[in-house]
Amino acid sequence: DFDHVLETLFNTSVDLDSLHPDSVLEEKWIKEVVTRSGMKFKWATLSERKERPNRDAQRRPLADPSVLVSRPPVVTIMGHVDHGKTTLLDSLRKSQIVSMEAGGITQHIGAFLVQVPTGEKITFLDTPGHSAFSSMRARGVNATDIIILVVAADDGVMNQTVESIQHAKRAEVPIIVAVNKCDKPQADPQRVKQELLAHDVVCEEFGGDVQAIHISALKGDNLPALTEATVALAEVLELKADPSGPVEGLVIESRTDKGKGPVTTAIVQRGTLKRGCFLVAGRCWAKVRFLYDDNGQVVTEAGPSAAVQVVGWKELPSAGETILEVESEQRAKEVVEWRTHEEEEQKLLEDQSAISLKHKLHLEEYQQKRAELSHLSWRMRKAALYQANKTRCATRPSERTQSEQPNLPLIIKGDVDGSVETLLNMLDTYDAQQQCQLEVVSFGIGDISEKDVTMAETFGGSIYGFNVAAARPVQQLAAKKGVPLRLHSVIYKLLEQLKEELSSKLPPLV
Ligand code: GDP
Repeated sequence: DFDHVLETLFNTSVDLDSLHPDSVLEEKWIKEVVTRSGMKFKWATLSERKERPNRDAQRRPLADPSVLVSRPPVVTIMGHVDHGKTTLLDSLRKSQIVSMEAGGITQHIGAFLVQVPTGEKITFLDTPGHSAFSSMRARGVNATDIIILVVAADDGVMNQTVESIQHAKRAEVPIIVAVNKCDKPQADPQRVKQELLAHDVVCEEFGGDVQAIHISALKGDNLPALTEATVALAEVLELKADPSGPVEGLVIESRTDKGKGPVTTAIVQRGTLKRGCFLVAGRCWAKVRFLYDDNGQVVTEAGPSAAVQVVGWKELPSAGETILEVESEQRAKEVVEWRTHEEEEQKLLEDQSAISLKHKLHLEEYQQKRAELSHLSWRMRKAALYQANKTRCATRPSERTQSEQPNLPLIIKGDVDGSVETLLNMLDTYDAQQQCQLEVVSFGIGDISEKDVTMAETFGGSIYGFNVAAARPVQQLAAKKGVPLRLHSVIYKLLEQLKEELSSKLPPLV
């Protein structure tokens, strides 16, 4: 009996979110409560989701150790501003060009490879301070095996030095200290190492295991010692990867190139990237047309720890995004479609949890009201509560106390951000002067979805779409649920219809 459920719910202050989504019975009742009271139902989408097959692409489980081969370390340079990170990267890169016979033209692709005289390779990421890169760092420096911490010997440990140490610790990435600017007369490398002790970075001479190399990035002094230390640490770390199977990697840089179109630099983490393969990253996909190395040379493949520029993206994925290879174009598109859908759903869930917060407040209010009415008989009290609930749901929270104004809940959809914003702006000004309140319960970009219809139904509102379509099943659903679906491609026509609808809600003039 619905009345009983409602009574129980409002009596016991049930946290809707805590009810188990698997319970069909509860779900049925709660749906009813939600629909009648204008609240939004949070886990309807979760249980629906369970029934859908997972169309996403994911990293593979760890490989069998027997197939693993050694790979070069991927190194990030971090440190305080002006301590010489850029200078160090430039010098390392230059040292490489000098040693290269062909002397190719270096391209800034976000990473470069250094080969030490003994043949080992090191991939350096050269995007410190890059905003997208910090988001990647925030995700755990997962692109990096070793951090070279640059500390200027004339300045010592500073804020960002400490931040870098904290980053490294959190991500469990080992540090090598490059004590820089040792060419300066006022340089005091010893002080730097002592200061580092306070941050649990214990250099070898103090009995710890952190290598500290005194360098001058500007003059190129002692850089070979730094690369040797890096190679030595990499050996200790026994860095290995599986060079076969579908590629896994990371986007470390992405931009639109005038000639090449959307390009990204990828660090390969697993598998071997080749021309012609299909990749997905975030909500973008690519058929790899070309691969370039940091000398601008076309390469045919790139194995673990290599950084290559990938050409062939249909849209530009963001730095920090995981790259996964899939078997076909169709699969790539499917994954992107799935993820787009998931993201929308996630957004919806977030919107809904905002609503569910509102709803909790609503419960409190309800209980208070209930207490006030405690002198009435059970039945009368319930009737009064119903009435209160109906009024509350039909008005904005701010107007709740004074107004019995008619109200029109709206769901606004548009083709692009701009059009939605324009509409919302117009509605704002319009709203202020009207007797009938507009309540935009949801807005967004894209075609009308079944979710929009459900939401409109829940709120008893209408859907207005500008330059968007509604698929036949969505139209049918709207018709079935009695949700007005108004699609326009001319703004003033849309507003005209809205005005009409608003007037129709007003009480007739006496
Ligand atoms: P970043 O902000 O950490 O990238 O620092 P930069 O590489 O831009 O260097 C900041 C300043 O310090 C520049 O003027 C560099 O020329 C100077 N610098 C960097 N490394 C050295 C060095 O080894 N010796 C000296 N004397 N100056 C350096």
